[in-house]
Amino acid sequence: MSIEREGNRPMSLRIAIIGAGLGGLATALALQKSGFRPVVYERSPEFAPLGAGLTMCSNANRVLRHLGLGDMLERDGVTQAQDYRDARSGAVLRRFDRENDLKKYGAPYYKVHRGDLQMEMARLVMARDPDAVVMDSELESIAQHGTEVTLKFANGTEAAADLVIGADGIRSVVRQRLFDDSDPVFTGYVAWRALVPTEGLGEDFMVSAVTAGTDRMINRYLVRARKLINVVCFSRRSGWRSADWSTKSDLGEVFEEFGDFDQNTMETLRLIDPNGVYKWALHTRKPLQSWVSGRVVLLGDAVHPMLPFMGQGAAMAIEDGMILARCLGSIPVLDTALATYQAIRKPRAEELVERSNLMAGVFHNGPDKYTRASDYTDQPTDPSMYDATSVPLQLPN
Ligand SMILES: Cc1cc2nc3c(=O)[nH]c(=O)nc-3n(C[C@H](O)[C@H](O)[C@H](O)COP(=O)(O)OP(=O)(O)OC[C@H]3O[C@@H](n4cnc5c(N)ncnc54)[C@H](O)[C@@H]3O)c2cc1C
Repeated sequence: MSIEREGNRPMSLRIAIIGAGLGGLATALALQKSGFRPVVYERSPEFAPLGAGLTMCSNANRVLRHLGLGDMLERDGVTQAQDYRDARSGAVLRRFDRENDLKKYGAPYYKVHRGDLQMEMARLVMARDPDAVVMDSELESIAQHGTEVTLKFANGTEAAADLVIGADGIRSVVRQRLFDDSDPVFTGYVAWRALVPTEGLGEDFMVSAVTAGTDRMINRYLVRARKLINVVCFSRRSGWRSADWSTKSDLGEVFEEFGDFDQNTMETLRLIDPNGVYKWALHTRKPLQSWVSGRVVLLGDAVHPMLPFMGQGAAMAIEDGMILARCLGSIPVLDTALATYQAIRKPRAEELVERSNLMAGVFHNGPDKYTRASDYTDQPTDPSMYDATSVPLQLPN
């Protein structure tokens, strides 16, 4: 596939991206579209369709379609009405017609499997440039010497770049080495995640439903062309001081926490393979004053991890990558391009961090609060409206 040239920066700028998550790969695709040849370094030895489901709101899908993911999303993404239900009775308190999002925002709303999307993004990146992704490369150290950045990996290899993009997630080594060496902070929320095959199941199970009770909430929806149900069970406890990062868990623990939920939800939980339950402790990080240090810049969870209650964490990483590539492709002075990226993205991402914190309260403070506040999508700055492919690239005066 040929690389279209859109910008005026020399293609020879050596750009290294650390991390081939959704943020890193979106950045690579957007940079390729602007005429660059970035190299992505990923610590995992291979891509595999691992992971769980994700909500991809219209703002994310607008970018993903622009980057060539439209066919995959249409094939595998699921758009269906989303119920908000009461945990005790299972009664539907509110229904959102997600089919409307295409008309309302100009891009669809999908539920997808993270691993499927990541693999397709990686395939596209490598179709454009077979040398663009280097697997099994865990960054260990990073140093800046004038305008060059040097990278050392756990496998003993080294690389040099003119610009390094840290897209290495909430435990970012790039952040830790050059920006902030504090640890992520546990939020008090724990999530259990599992996938259930839908083969042979009745329509009662083929739903998208957020079922909330006080301090606990279960979100389930279909992914992979309706072949799997993604189940995420959230619990908040003030007594939890800290928790393991991400670990295999026991289905018994899920029943202990959520055993009093309504019948339909419990029937879904009983379908979970006891060997397929993963527990995540949800962490956050303090906001950074600057996202740029010399020739190194951060994006996605490396700089602004957020609670998942707006379904916008991956979307913000994808938008970051789009805006960063547009800045690099169209603003000739590198420092100005990076400053413009930060000026555009920092307020947007920090607003979503705040709103995700607010939504955490809404979803865990009982059905009353939850029903009223389900109007959140109608707020003046509806996140789904944002168009990272076309917002003006301007530094504030
Ligand atoms: C329970 C839960 C539910 C969520 N639901 C949603 C949702 O519905 N919608 C949504 O938009 N978001 C959701 N999120 C958030 C979303 O998953 C993240 O915001 C998003 O994945 C961040 O993308 P990223 O590319 O910045 O980081 P990551 O996805 O974490 O990717 C980082 C990549 O860097 C690699 N890496 C790490 N360290 C190194 C290193 N030293 N060297 C090389 N490579 C490295 C990792 O292997 C990984 O591939 C959810 C999160 C959780 C925990």
